[in-house]
Amino acid sequence: MADVEFAFSAPAPESASISTFSPLAMGLALGLLAAVVGGRPALAADLENGFASAAPIAPASSASAHWNYILPQSWQTAYPACASTSQSPINIDTTAISGTAGSSNLYSLSSYTPAAALSVRNTGHGLQVDASPAGALGSLSLSGVTYNVLQFHLHFPSEHTVDGAPMLGEMHIVHQKSGSTGLNDLLVVGVFFQAGTDHPLLTQMGLPSGAPTTSAETMPITGAAISLADMFQGQLQGSFYHYEGSLTTPPCSETVKWFVLENTATASYAQAKAFMATQGATDNSRPVQLRNGRPLVKGVTSVTGMNISADLVECASPVA
Ligand SMILES: [Zn+2]
Repeated sequence: MADVEFAFSAPAPESASISTFSPLAMGLALGLLAAVVGGRPALAADLENGFASAAPIAPASSASAHWNYILPQSWQTAYPACASTSQSPINIDTTAISGTAGSSNLYSLSSYTPAAALSVRNTGHGLQVDASPAGALGSLSLSGVTYNVLQFHLHFPSEHTVDGAPMLGEMHIVHQKSGSTGLNDLLVVGVFFQAGTDHPLLTQMGLPSGAPTTSAETMPITGAAISLADMFQGQLQGSFYHYEGSLTTPPCSETVKWFVLENTATASYAQAKAFMATQGATDNSRPVQLRNGRPLVKGVTSVTGMNISADLVECASPVA
C-alpha cells in the first residue's frame, strides 16, 4: 500500500478550548477513591486494564493504584500525568480545525490481517481483545513507520465528542511503533458507534450476550477470523481527526497519536446496555479534557471518496 508523509500543516492560533464533562460520569455519586495494590511495570498491552480487579484496600506499595470511573478527576492523585496539559479525550471542535493531514486515508495505510483464536477479556475497565500472538492483527504504516496493533477495546458512551456531542460508543485500536516498549510511541485509532443495528465485531465479542461479565474473565471468540480492515473499511476509508494526546486511563501518559475516524459505525442499544452490564452497570468514559492549544487537524480524504488516491477508488465503498 502507498505510504504518505504525514506532514501536518502549521496550525493557526486557536481560541479557547472546551471543557465538558461526561453527563454519565458526573451523574454518578462521589464514591470511594482508589485502593492501592502491589504493581508491576506498565505495559502497552495492559492499557486500561487497571492492573486486575478491585481488591480489598491494601497499604500503598507501588505506583500502580486502582482507579475507577466514579471520580476520574481524582486519578491525578496517584497518576500526576492525568493533570498534565495534553490529555485525552477531547472535544473535537470542528470549527477549530487548523489544517489538513496526510494525503490518503488510513485504510490505504493499513495492513490489518485476519486473526483467529482471539479472546475477549473483561479488564474491569472495559472489554478488550489482545493481538495474540503479537502482530496477529496487523499494522498501520505512517510516514514509513510501522505501528503494530496491540489490542482493541470499547468505551460506552464515546470518550471523544464532536462539537460537544457524544456518540453511543467508541472503539480504540491501540498500536505501538515497531521496536518501542512500555507505553512509548502509541497510536490509537478511534471509531465511533452511533445507535443502530448490532455491530458484527461486538457480536463476536459477546454483545449483547455471552461477554465475560466479571473482571479478569475471558471468553474465546468464535466465528470468522477478525479483520479490522473488513470490519471498519467504510470508516477507515473516510477522513479522520488527528491530534497529539494521552492514554484516556491512568497513567495518562502523553504518548499517543490520536486518529479519530469521522465516519461512524453502528452498534445497538442492546449491545451498549450489555456492555455496561459487564462493567458493573456503569460507563467507562473519561470526561473530555482541555485542548490547551494543541493543533487539531483533519485528514484530507472526503467521505464521498473524492480525494481517495486513484489506486484506492476501486475499493472505496459508499459510506453507510
Ligand atoms: Zn480506550
